[in-house]
Amino acid sequence: MNLRTGFGYDSHRLVEGRPLVLGGIELPYHMGCTGHSDADVLLHAITDALLGAVALGDIGMHFPDTDPRWKGADSRKLLAHVTGLLKERGWQVVNMDCTVVLEQPKLRPHIDTMRGAIAGLLGVAVDAVSVKASTNEKMGFTGRGEGIMAFATVLVQRA
Ligand code: MG
Repeated sequence: MNLRTGFGYDSHRLVEGRPLVLGGIELPYHMGCTGHSDADVLLHAITDALLGAVALGDIGMHFPDTDPRWKGADSRKLLAHVTGLLKERGWQVVNMDCTVVLEQPKLRPHIDTMRGAIAGLLGVAVDAVSVKASTNEKMGFTGRGEGIMAFATVLVQRA
């Protein structure tokens, strides 16, 4: 069967004084995610889902946070690199679905811009990219606004 599914998860801490980069775009907010790269938690989950679909390890293995090459890295470049690894092996993305868990800011006004950015990176049509948002009903670290979680699944096919 030339179909595979992949799953990805990531979380990052929210801090004052960092831009909030999510789904390949910058959102207006007074806090942003902290991390070695630009800390785009959603693109990291998607990148891990792609790697998982073809059993190529995980994002930390390909872009270790001990490597100065990835310090402040644009996560769009990491995702583009991994999309290229799949392409080299003959795999293409069929569709991607994800959920971002956070209390603030509200994502609804930005969902379609994120979908467009992600579709461009994956080389698929916008209607193959779903971005959903959920709060955590004020429970846990996301509920307290200490961080953001993202989950992603992807289906890939080999021509
Ligand atoms: Mg990450």
